[in-house]
Amino acid sequence: MREFIKDGQWDEDTLRNTTKDLVQLFRKLLIAGGEDSVQWITPFGFNAAWEAARLRNLEVEWVGLCWNRGRPRWSMHSVLVIHKAILSLDFLQKRGVALANRCYLCYTDGETLDHMFCDCDNTWQVWSFLFEVCGWTLQRVHGITDLIEQFTQHFQRQTTKKMARMIFTTSLYFLWWKRNNRLHDKCVREAKELAKCIF
Ligand SMILES: [Zn+2]
Repeated sequence: MREFIKDGQWDEDTLRNTTKDLVQLFRKLLIAGGEDSVQWITPFGFNAAWEAARLRNLEVEWVGLCWNRGRPRWSMHSVLVIHKAILSLDFLQKRGVALANRCYLCYTDGETLDHMFCDCDNTWQVWSFLFEVCGWTLQRVHGITDLIEQFTQHFQRQTTKKMARMIFTTSLYFLWWKRNNRLHDKCVREAKELAKCIF
């Protein structure tokens, strides 16, 4: 720690070259005079150490919609979609990869995550089918944020909670899987067929 402190203050020059997460952690610590010491109040363990050291943000409203006792892969995929961290064609283009951008579900518009998971007509047929089967009303949404709102309504009801969570995570995963099938294997699966597969 000595390297990060200069004249009784955090050394801004050194902090500038440090990982952002660590800097945020350091700034919460008050610098006092005397020798550094560490006091561990609760019983020590790796879990306790991790909980103490990790940075926590406020819980987001969609966390329960993504995480459940189902398949972690589907949950993780949903989180990546919400954070727009999936390797869609527009994502790759923005990082300098030279390629043509086309949605592999409808072959008309460019591929963005908002389009692929919401705006695309092909995807919309899947959502429409699933909502109809559940007896839920589906309003036309534009973008993943709107889609989350649609599901949140049903997630907040005890009777439809599990179903909303299952459909949300499973559908996002299978829509991406369908897109990859079309891209790599040229395998065409109709929207209704996919919706039945999800259900
Ligand atoms: Zn499309």
